[in-house]
Amino acid sequence: MTANFDEKHPCFSPSGHRAGAQVRSRRTCVELATPGVQGLRPYVPGKPIEELERELGVSNTLKLASNENPLGASPLALEAAAKAVAGLHLYPDDIGFRLRNKLAARFGISPDAVVLGSGSSDVIDMVTRAFLGPGRNAVFAEHSFAMYPIFTQAIGAQGKVAKALPPDHPVMPHGHDLQTLATAVDADTRVVFIANPNNPTGTWLKAAELKAFIAGLPEDVVVVLDEAYTEFVEEPEFPDGSRWLAEFPNLIVTRTFSKIFGLAGLRIGYGLANPELAAVVGRVRHPFNVNSIALAAAEAALDDEAFIRRSIQVNSAGLKQLASAFDEMGLRHIPSVGNFIAVDVGRSGPETYQALLREGVIVRPIANYDLPNHLRVTVGLPEENERFLGALKKVLGR
Ligand SMILES: *Cc1c(COP(=O)(O)O)cnc(C)c1O
Repeated sequence: MTANFDEKHPCFSPSGHRAGAQVRSRRTCVELATPGVQGLRPYVPGKPIEELERELGVSNTLKLASNENPLGASPLALEAAAKAVAGLHLYPDDIGFRLRNKLAARFGISPDAVVLGSGSSDVIDMVTRAFLGPGRNAVFAEHSFAMYPIFTQAIGAQGKVAKALPPDHPVMPHGHDLQTLATAVDADTRVVFIANPNNPTGTWLKAAELKAFIAGLPEDVVVVLDEAYTEFVEEPEFPDGSRWLAEFPNLIVTRTFSKIFGLAGLRIGYGLANPELAAVVGRVRHPFNVNSIALAAAEAALDDEAFIRRSIQVNSAGLKQLASAFDEMGLRHIPSVGNFIAVDVGRSGPETYQALLREGVIVRPIANYDLPNHLRVTVGLPEENERFLGALKKVLGR
């Protein structure tokens, strides 16, 4: 079938305007977009298993590319999700009454302090739409989460990248540098994004230094503290941003059910902020942004303490397994407290990634995060980590 886009969509072809149409411009579709969107490079997700199997005609693919929980979803959440299917003809509860109340009780805050999102990336997007726009900027660190620059640019604001700590830093190579972040903040800055721990590096900031950083920011700067991996962290000095909400009215802490709770496919996350800030963020929330199955599953997942405990154990054992294997192979890696680890393969990350695909193993190249020789691998089950390590040794010829 040959589609003739020119007929319906003149912008696809500068030469193909419909006869008789009022020609206001002969620009391409991209040229019709806003300046921010024109320069936008969309988010590149981890390669889906099905896609690789379609392309290579293989099966039994291992995906360690998107920081998904190798134990699957919380069993309690699955049970609740199955029950919720019976109500699919009804719109979801737009205000997410039960889940917000449950989260509020858990954190000792008001339900008005909780904003639900279709994944926490939805909440991050809401913050950018509420506080950013042309003439304003957002500050974030080098090697930080790819969604920050994407959402910022899409809304016409400027992203300001603060240099990370150097690769040879003795404690936190490639970690957030609070000094450069503070320096990057100027009169037009309205949002600062901090991922703790950071993705894709797995580096983290201690409670005392992070708190002092937030306290030192101008009050008209909204701080997004992205805690997508917080439940995995066992470091005693690791902060819990939810405890700082009363102190910092400009702070919003985001969390997700995609990672430790194993509900990435359902798309649900949340933001915690003082109620006034939460209300402003909520103004740009799409109606019914969280679906009814996600609401039910998330509520149940919060109670699944056994699953959380098991997930933490599997993860910390897997992190050790991967790190010590990298050490044995003489590969440098970034010390991580997340459910993933970035390893320097000493050659092109994207090429090594392609070679691993041919072994049926999907990891994540992170050249687009300015780490061209690193791969980010999600911690799997012990046998999955072993399989990845075997494939890596083969591909690197070690
Ligand atoms: C995975 C991730 C998120 C959240 O993703 P959602 O699925 O949208 O909740 C947010 N921030 C970081 C740094 C992440 O890695």
